[in-house]
Amino acid sequence: MASPTPSAEPTYVRKGFGLKAEVQDTLAADYTGQLVDLLRARDYVLEVGDTTVRLAREFGFCYGVERAVDYAYQTRRKFPDRRIFLAGEIIHNPHVNEKLREMGVVFLAASGKGFDYAPVEPQDVVILPAFGVTIQDFQTLRDLGCVVVDTTCGSVLNVWKRVEVYARDGFTSLIHGKYYHEETRATASQVEKYAGGQYLVVRDMGEADLVMDYIEAKAGKTTPRPALSREAFLEKFAVAASDGFDPDVHLERIGVANQTTMLARESLAIGAAVGDAMDRAYGESHRAEHFRTFDTICSATQDRQDAVMELLREPIDLMVVVGGYNSSNTISLAALCAEQVPTYHIADPDEIDVVGNAVRYRRIHKQHFEDTMSPWLPTTGPLRVGITAGASTPNNKIGQAVARVFALRGIEPGSIT
Ligand code: SF4
Repeated sequence: MASPTPSAEPTYVRKGFGLKAEVQDTLAADYTGQLVDLLRARDYVLEVGDTTVRLAREFGFCYGVERAVDYAYQTRRKFPDRRIFLAGEIIHNPHVNEKLREMGVVFLAASGKGFDYAPVEPQDVVILPAFGVTIQDFQTLRDLGCVVVDTTCGSVLNVWKRVEVYARDGFTSLIHGKYYHEETRATASQVEKYAGGQYLVVRDMGEADLVMDYIEAKAGKTTPRPALSREAFLEKFAVAASDGFDPDVHLERIGVANQTTMLARESLAIGAAVGDAMDRAYGESHRAEHFRTFDTICSATQDRQDAVMELLREPIDLMVVVGGYNSSNTISLAALCAEQVPTYHIADPDEIDVVGNAVRYRRIHKQHFEDTMSPWLPTTGPLRVGITAGASTPNNKIGQAVARVFALRGIEPGSIT
């Protein structure tokens, strides 16, 4: 039978290529970790002498990441001879991205709010990451006619639907997220499906306060802090708001959404606080006309945050959090831990230097700000280490971090059974 002509093949693929069984062994070889399997089998605790390591009960790869990585491997298997590109990173984990590079996948460079598709030709294949891409990027690729393998997570699509409905109904989307994060850029772009759709991204409660003060001051209410002028507001949110955003016009009707991987507790608090501010500004009876909110934190993020809080109820001397420095959900986990115990957010187990007893880690609340501590771990006396990992961290990397902790305590990881 003749092979299908390029024009007959589907150019949009969202459900993989039915090659899961074929790539399963490679995925297992690249990402499973024996020590993690052992921890699971031992009810998430390994005790050797006076060294205890406890693993959070929910950690590492989430359903969206597993699917995205699986589809990327399937894509390589399906098209062994075609050029394959990736819009940015498949997920925020250096090890996983490196594996894809080794497989010949080319990462497209960032450009404006999206990526530079100049190298892509119609016969190529482009993988969209779990975070999704902006509607402009999506349209560019569809116009190019290349094969698009879309791994956008279903939980991200749910947020897009919410933001789209806000725009349709004339509500500005107030997004709790990081304006530069791929997912938030893609989510924010959904408002452009409707003429005049607007968005504003707030990073945290501090920025949400500025928005609330502006709304209340505009409605003639007294605010706890002096509200920003229109000019100062526009300057402050210049890169975090949609084109043509005017705070005097576009803060009258607000729908709250969030990047799926933010600190759930803060997202909920922002939603509630903005609702209260809208009540004060416009009156409770008009709430439905001016305010909507919807918790769009994904269940995987929520589960990992709940599990780390549960772990922190155990006696723990310090926490190790493994995940990319640009991984939003890892940063949220590290922030939760740092409230209670000394916490080391490491991008990779290699950050732990066993010979020199040193650790290189990202300082909490500082984007990409590294520090080194040496000596790091007490090598004698009782020690209880907690460990967790972001949704993009594979089990082998978590296991290697555990192994290095034990090695620092003079315990040969191979001796742990
Ligand atoms: S963290 Fe949540 S939204 Fe992101 S890929 Fe995983 S499941 Fe999907």
